[in-house]
Amino acid sequence: MNAIFVTSTPMSKPSALGLILVISGPSGVGKDTVWQTASACLPSFERAITCTTRERRPHEVEGVNYHFVSSDEFERMIRDDELIEYAQVHGNFYGVPQKSVLDRINNGLDVVCVIDVQGALRIRGLFPAAVLVFIKPPQGRENQVLEERIQGRSAVEASELETRLKTASWELSQVQLYDYQIENDDLQRAANELCEVIEREKARRMED
Ligand code: ADP
Ligand code: 5GP
Repeated sequence: MNAIFVTSTPMSKPSALGLILVISGPSGVGKDTVWQTASACLPSFERAITCTTRERRPHEVEGVNYHFVSSDEFERMIRDDELIEYAQVHGNFYGVPQKSVLDRINNGLDVVCVIDVQGALRIRGLFPAAVLVFIKPPQGRENQVLEERIQGRSAVEASELETRLKTASWELSQVQLYDYQIENDDLQRAANELCEVIEREKARRMED
């Protein structure tokens, strides 16, 4: 089970604030890919670049996929209260910098956080107006598809694959806590659904 800690005080959201979109779901389900595909129709959103102590994968770029930091630097950020929440996921630390979210929403700008399930639930506690979207693997083929996608993305040790799949089964059991569920079978269809969800949420907020 992942450990998670919250370092901020709860906030409620007057309508002048930007919208926080949280995308989560199991490792390898396609959260990043769906977000990247959908981002063309969601130009008002910027992704919060989170911090991690995990090693950079070959295709990843510092400051684009993550801020890759040492354990010492991560501990310093915790001490200096620079993270909205942080979690230990699959043996590494991950955290959302306060600045990446607060600077945007306080200026009426939208932000998306692509984070794990416990992180998503903590964000919901801190920002009740956040929109939580769960990306699901295709029904009936969950494990097989996750395994294929995790292995297809980059080389992964058997033990790490096992840990990620084990965590996935717990994460999938939390899906009912989300505002929206999107099945990522066909990528473009999943991205279109995400765009529709945001359009609907924006329209609803205009009416409030
Ligand atoms: P996550 O962010 O959830 O860990 P990624 O976005 O890194 O997952 O996707 C994992 C792998 O699955 C990537 O290689 C990506 O290209 C692939 N992928 C994502 N969505 C689909 C899809 N709908 N069909 C086939 N492959 C996909
Ligand atoms: P990966 O190692 O596959 O990039 O990420 C592992 C998991 O950590 C994914 O579910 C990812 O969304 C999540 N994650 C990334 N950044 C954060 C963060 O700042 N906080 C939390 N709670 N989870 C994160």
